[in-house]
Amino acid sequence: MHYDHLLVRYGELTLKGTNRKMFVNQLKDNVKRALIPLQGYHVKGKRDRMYVDMDQDADMNEIIHRLTKVYGIKSISPVIKTDKTEEAIYEAAIQLARDFDEGSTFKIDVKRVDKSFHLDTYALQREVGGAILKNVEGVSVNVKQPDHEVRVEIRLDAVYIFEKIIQGSGGLPVGTGGKTLLMLSGGIDSPVAGMEVMKRGVTIEAIHFHSPPFTSEKAKDKVIELTRILSERVGPIKLHIVPFTELQKQINKVVHPRYTMTSTRRMMMRVSDALVHKIGANAIVNGENLGQVASQTLKSMYAINHVTSTPVLRPLLTLDKEDIIKKARDIGTYETSIQPFEDCCTIFTPKNPVTEPDFDKVEKYEGVFNFDDMVQTAVDNIETMTIDQNYKSEKEQSTDALIEDLF
Ligand code: ATP
Ligand code: MG
Repeated sequence: MHYDHLLVRYGELTLKGTNRKMFVNQLKDNVKRALIPLQGYHVKGKRDRMYVDMDQDADMNEIIHRLTKVYGIKSISPVIKTDKTEEAIYEAAIQLARDFDEGSTFKIDVKRVDKSFHLDTYALQREVGGAILKNVEGVSVNVKQPDHEVRVEIRLDAVYIFEKIIQGSGGLPVGTGGKTLLMLSGGIDSPVAGMEVMKRGVTIEAIHFHSPPFTSEKAKDKVIELTRILSERVGPIKLHIVPFTELQKQINKVVHPRYTMTSTRRMMMRVSDALVHKIGANAIVNGENLGQVASQTLKSMYAINHVTSTPVLRPLLTLDKEDIIKKARDIGTYETSIQPFEDCCTIFTPKNPVTEPDFDKVEKYEGVFNFDDMVQTAVDNIETMTIDQNYKSEKEQSTDALIEDLF
């Protein structure tokens, strides 16, 4: 069976009234980017749905697979597009039914958007069903529990005939909801948090705090790989690596051991806040989850949050860990996240961090040193890289070059 088009149904964006054009254009851009470097297709974004025309040699399954990852798409159907004549409709329906297994059952489902079409819904249902029964052997009608539903949509421009409806990722097109800064550690939670906001149309840049030599290059590579996985769905992502060693050392010098964790988080928040303004973002996102660890009690969050007035989004705040893990598996970050490289916090984590930090005390400990310059230096020395789905580290690139030289 050769399908010549994919019908792409929008998710919630149909609700967005006057913004619809902007949403459709953004989704079209995102779809086109997701399909690079595939060949043999053409994307047409209409007001109420999108079509992907496919040549004979287009890889339909791969195109569908990629579309299921694009936010803003509710579902996808491979369709046959025909003229608005009875003969063309019957012919396409027969073609479709020829793929049904011997002994299987079907029903016809007609949607008549063009009310002026000369046959009404009921007559069309009967005629299309009759045409299949006459021309395809070994199939029969069952309207209650059919194995196949042959769907016929009579629209203004043409008739679309299809069977399958493949679930998309839902959500809103990335790029329609402003920009946030994701605090990305190497753990399980923060990549999921990033994906949750992107699902609502928001663009992210990522910030990672790196403390060499206490944290290894491998920890950094892990964060790069996590960013790469996220970029598979949403296109290139900027990753900002913050040199955090000096700040961590200074915190450990002046802050009471039980409060170093709280202060570390506060400094991360201060650096993030400065970067938010620099890149023109509107919020910070992190993977915090209520009660999960010492730094994530309400009192902790209060003390940490106090250094910024920028909204801090915590999409995972109330989820259970097992649900977060399930989401991490779904988006493909879990296996990378569980690799054992230490991040900067684990290494400096005190044995017995305070779970209910007293806000006044944190301020008092930090008050003995002016952290402003150090925070600014960290911001000024951020290393920024742009990661896309094909990103290769310098190491991998040089290995590739060596292999190419050999052969
Ligand atoms: P995750 O699995 O995301 O690491 P976690 O459960 O280990 O989360 P914490 O280590 O307490 O929790 O970190 C809480 C949040 O702080 C993280 O979800 C992340 O958003 C941010 N964070 C922690 N460490 C870093 C880091 N080195 N760089 C950037 N953000 C960080
Ligand atoms: Mg962590």
